[in-house]
Amino acid sequence: MADRERHDPYVRAQPRSWDAAGAPSSETTGFYELICPACGDDGGPYERQPAELEALRGPYPNVRAARRMLREHRGLPGAWSLPRKSRG
Ligand SMILES: [Zn+2]
Repeated sequence: MADRERHDPYVRAQPRSWDAAGAPSSETTGFYELICPACGDDGGPYERQPAELEALRGPYPNVRAARRMLREHRGLPGAWSLPRKSRG
């Protein structure tokens, strides 16, 4: 029952800025992000993520809200589809 596409996201404080090498600053914005590698999120700057991932990332106003979404996301079966944003 190997499930290679297991979604195991994590919550982190949203970095305020990024340095040239792509490392997050230790200063945070006070908001929280949900990072899901299985969805293709590499943990890099928000602006670099695909539009579909931005909805999952948040930012969330507090840890509680982020964790609620984390549980929801993790509990979904493999065929998870991200919320669609209307485009154009
Ligand atoms: Zn995911």
